[in-house]
Amino acid sequence: MASTGQIEVHPGRKLHPTRLKGFVVMLLVAGFGLVIWQTAKFSYDFFLSQTQVQSQQKLNLYAQNLRRSLERYEFLPLLHANHNSIAGLLASPENSELLARSNALMERVNRLTGSAETYLLDPTGKTLAASNWDQPENFIGRNFGAEPYFKAAMQGRLGRYYAIGSNSSERGYYFASPVRRAGIVRGVIVTIIGIEDIEDSWWTTGRSELFVTDDKGIIFISSRPAWRYRRLPPSLSNTSDPHNASPGSVQSARYNQTAITPFNLTYGHDLETGGHVVRINPFGDSEGDTLPSDAEAEARMVQIEPPVAVLPSYEGRQVENFLMQNLPMRELGWTLYFLADISAIRRQTATVTILVGVVIIALGLGTGFWVQRRRNLAQRAELQNQSRLALEAAYGELENRVDERTRDLVASNQLLTSEIQERRRTEQELRQTQDDLVQAEKLAALGHISAGISHELNQPLTAIRSFSDNARKLLDRERFEDVDSNLGLISELTGRMAQLMKQLRTFARKTPVQTSVVSLQEILTRTIDVLRPRIEEMQVSIEIDEAPDVRVLADSLRLEQVLGNILGNALDAMAPLDERRIQVAIRSKARMVTVKIHDNGPGIPAEYLNEIFDPFFTTKDVGQGLGLGLSITYGIVKDFGGTLRASNHADGGAVFTLSLPRYDEEQQQERKAG
Ligand code: ADP
Repeated sequence: MASTGQIEVHPGRKLHPTRLKGFVVMLLVAGFGLVIWQTAKFSYDFFLSQTQVQSQQKLNLYAQNLRRSLERYEFLPLLHANHNSIAGLLASPENSELLARSNALMERVNRLTGSAETYLLDPTGKTLAASNWDQPENFIGRNFGAEPYFKAAMQGRLGRYYAIGSNSSERGYYFASPVRRAGIVRGVIVTIIGIEDIEDSWWTTGRSELFVTDDKGIIFISSRPAWRYRRLPPSLSNTSDPHNASPGSVQSARYNQTAITPFNLTYGHDLETGGHVVRINPFGDSEGDTLPSDAEAEARMVQIEPPVAVLPSYEGRQVENFLMQNLPMRELGWTLYFLADISAIRRQTATVTILVGVVIIALGLGTGFWVQRRRNLAQRAELQNQSRLALEAAYGELENRVDERTRDLVASNQLLTSEIQERRRTEQELRQTQDDLVQAEKLAALGHISAGISHELNQPLTAIRSFSDNARKLLDRERFEDVDSNLGLISELTGRMAQLMKQLRTFARKTPVQTSVVSLQEILTRTIDVLRPRIEEMQVSIEIDEAPDVRVLADSLRLEQVLGNILGNALDAMAPLDERRIQVAIRSKARMVTVKIHDNGPGIPAEYLNEIFDPFFTTKDVGQGLGLGLSITYGIVKDFGGTLRASNHADGGAVFTLSLPRYDEEQQQERKAG
């Protein structure tokens, strides 16, 4: 791989967020487990220590009761011993009367005190008298010299013992007192107290059990009958006799050859304050009597069995867990054990642990929800902030744009204003120019008119001068005929000048128009007749295409002037041609009558089409025309309420279209009638 010189990134160095999450979750789970474990341990220890305190109190109470109930019987043998008949019987054992009295005494005392049996032994241990003398299997004659209580009494002490009676097979506690005479032990009085009675006085709740073991760890008295004649594991019993630690079943003479089996009690662990946690398996599991290792003990200590498994069964069917405490009662030679059922502790522990777990989970979930909610709120606030910022930015942008647009608008407005001003200025300039032009045109027209008039007048004036000069010369020579001819010419010229003046006057002074019903054909014929000499001279053919009897509203003289002007112009235009033709078409329409006059002249140059009706516009040479004809004609037609237009025909030549109001008799009559 080519070295790029870039910094290498080690992704493993940084924890990926999901990995970190996983790690945190693992930590949380581990922490939760630890807390639960500690809670379980703590509450288990707490409940256990409480139970321990309570059971210690109960144990003391039971021990006290037991002690008291036995102490009640302690002096019974002594009472008997001081009786005369007893002492007498010991002195003379063959005395049947004394025997009978002793037996009766014992029976009576036995019945009164509630003890099981009372009997009298001679120094050899042979029974002399007994409370059960009248029973088939009475003690009389039997020798108890080997019994420890007898031996103790013979030594002058109060003998105590407990055992199963060889006859009655009942468990009993034996008190043996020496019967002294003159300081010498002459016999022994024995009282047996039934253990069953003691057991019956034990009231246990079922959540606790009591038992008593002898100095060999054998259960002798028990609140639970099934546990009787079981031997405790040596590790737990207070026995000092290692020979009794044999695991198998043994028989004991003390217990009337009853089979002694190991008690399937497994050592759990010790409590600091005293007591052991033990397990009792009624089926005899193979855990044996061995002391468990510390590790095992520790493990058991925290072992929480499911509630079902620890439900107490008073049939002894299930493995049970107890807190066991003992109290050695040395004066009696036994040890009292109190067992408190701790399955409830396990249930309580489980409850507390579950409760704590639920609370922690609830707290955790609550915290989680709270954190999530806060995060959501923060996110929402952030979003709102962002959108607010975005809005502000958009608003700013908008404002900028509006400003820009406003600036543009203002600029274009200014531009427009300046353009308008410019246009106004241009317009003004144009108007000025137009005015100047009009002025110039007026001046030009004036010049034109002056030139025209002076020309028109100069010519005849010059002619008149020369004619009159000539006439004077001719008068001198007395050539009167020529003078006359000259004067005639002068008169003609002045007439022409007068005509010109008349024309000018017509243009200058407007007279009001008075229209009447005029026959168009008549006026046209009259006009042609006036022009006839020129028409014939020029050999012009005139074609008239007319509608019959067309009457218009006009002034006949002026209409003649109009038609004469148009036809005269046509003749002027056709002058240079060889063949000359004028076509006149009269068309009558609804309200108007049109007269089209088409000559075959050169037509009107396009650029002049708009100007020919202007006064003093002429293309003719000076002296030929003043340019007033069409202008006057246009005014007359307008006065009639008609129109006059000039155009060029497609086949050549100019076309003048005259439009005049038509006179309709019917309409007129209708109007009159209306
Ligand atoms: P004038 O006849 O004195 O020139 P008008 O006003 O009658 O004045 O005519 C103006 C001009 O119109 C003429 O100079 C001529 O150029 C033009 N014009 C009028 N009639 C015709 C026509 N039929 N053909 C060609 N040009 C014409």
